[in-house]
Amino acid sequence: MAQATSAVHWFRKGLRLHDNPALLDALRSAQHVWPVYCWDARLVTPQAVGVNRVQFLLQCLDDLDRRLRERQSRLTVLRGDALEVLPRFMRERQVSLLTFEGDVEPEGRARDERMLRKCHQMGVQVHSFATHLLYDPDRVIRELGADELPLSYGPFVARVTEALGAPALPLAAPPETQSFGTPDTDPQAYAVPRLEELEAYRGMTATTPLKGGETTALAVLGAFLSERRDEARQFSKPHTSPTAFEPASTTQLSPHMALGCLSARLFYYRVQELHPLRRPPVSLIGQLWWREFFTTVAYATPGFHSMKENRLCRQIPWSADAEEQYRAWEGGRTGHPFIDACMVQLRKHGWLHHLARHAVACFLSRGDLWVSWERGRDTFDRLLVDRDYALNNANWMWLSCSAFFHQYFRVYSPIKFPQRFDKEGTFVRHFLPVLRNMPAKYVYEPWKAPLSVQREAGCVVGRDYPYPIVDHEVVSKENLAKMSEVFSRERRPMEKFAKKRPRPEC
Ligand code: FAD
Repeated sequence: MAQATSAVHWFRKGLRLHDNPALLDALRSAQHVWPVYCWDARLVTPQAVGVNRVQFLLQCLDDLDRRLRERQSRLTVLRGDALEVLPRFMRERQVSLLTFEGDVEPEGRARDERMLRKCHQMGVQVHSFATHLLYDPDRVIRELGADELPLSYGPFVARVTEALGAPALPLAAPPETQSFGTPDTDPQAYAVPRLEELEAYRGMTATTPLKGGETTALAVLGAFLSERRDEARQFSKPHTSPTAFEPASTTQLSPHMALGCLSARLFYYRVQELHPLRRPPVSLIGQLWWREFFTTVAYATPGFHSMKENRLCRQIPWSADAEEQYRAWEGGRTGHPFIDACMVQLRKHGWLHHLARHAVACFLSRGDLWVSWERGRDTFDRLLVDRDYALNNANWMWLSCSAFFHQYFRVYSPIKFPQRFDKEGTFVRHFLPVLRNMPAKYVYEPWKAPLSVQREAGCVVGRDYPYPIVDHEVVSKENLAKMSEVFSRERRPMEKFAKKRPRPEC
């Protein structure tokens, strides 16, 4: 194959220099490499992407630009629809090779297909690499057979490891001495946008403490595995706390994983070094397998994000008239302090502990409000800094017992569940300062406090904080009966793997 003179490496996710085979391929194949990102303002609006995630993304791009400049290159940000601006850019510069990490989401895959066709028409070669996960999902599906892909975690992990062995080792970043040969451009042109200049976000301020970029991701991973070495070794997800926030009880690497600032293979092999470790599914490596499992199943399932078009999704007759309930949940005004505090954390930080996500998702759907998981998914899609197509849809289906999880009788109590981790209510007091002086006895159910206690705490229910919009004890029982009815008539493909052993409420 003839050596390309100029290549573009197109960053979308995979916002890193380490373990980036597509970037290394461009550097190997061409004398001049343009690292490019396409910023399409039509896709980045407050209705779709919360301000916390935009700030995080811009920090990732800034960091990438800085790391590229250390290598005498830079990030070229093209503004507009990638399918228009990128072919034009390549034509004007006579680029003959385009490299990228293949997208795993349906919209990204459709866009990649269209780009492939355009490049074909223009005579530009395309080299794409599957490096978002530990394994190439196409290869997994090919090896295991599309109809044989296990739809539950244990069999998936076992069959993938048996068929494909250990994941490939991560690759090093190009050294600082590596020549990119990126031609000079006007330093002002093609710059990374600044949050202040984005018209759609005018007047909005990001409040997340999470900072984006490969440099931070590597530092966070390094610190967790060294300073919290024993925790990392003993990591057992069900025993980490949903109410810990400074610091969180888990790694908080999810936003970096979602945008690919950190490679899954590097994460995996760095954790393996801590051997001996606990085993999946609860261990840290086990968490990466959850990501692998859900993303691969989503990749193989058309309409994964839709209740109606997804063959895996149970058809539950969610309430058609629950706008008020949904708004109260989203706005953190359910009158259940733990649920409301979680929703405030989601809005402020763009992140929640996994079990806090469990609690609010269960509350919105099958536990209390009987609102469709798709609505909660949309809220998470907008507000999460770590928003991930497969993980968000899969986990919402899990929590609503629409797919993957079938123990519908296990319902999260908005009162007893947080008490297991945080008797004093420190988490609630932090995110709902109106309750900061409420005695611990009432902090999860302030409506039960005598009026004199409420007055003394400076929080009168009905005036300073809402009454609960539902009585959990009552509605959760009604909803259990509805779920039982649904389960008696609906069977889904993955149920052949499901255990049928009842377990108590959480
Ligand atoms: P750690 O426990 O430190 O785990 C390390 C990594 O493993 C994470 O960064 C993540 O990449 C992966 N991981 C961990 N838990 C899961 C899981 N249950 N499923 C798949 N991968 C996992 N995670 C997202 O990244 N994006 C989402 O949009 C998302 N939506 C969710 C929606 C709901 C309703 C629920 C219940 C969970 C959702 N999760 C999502 C999964 C999980 O809650 C987060 O990945 C995790 O809490 C992130 O924190 P961490 O990085 O500290 O995780």
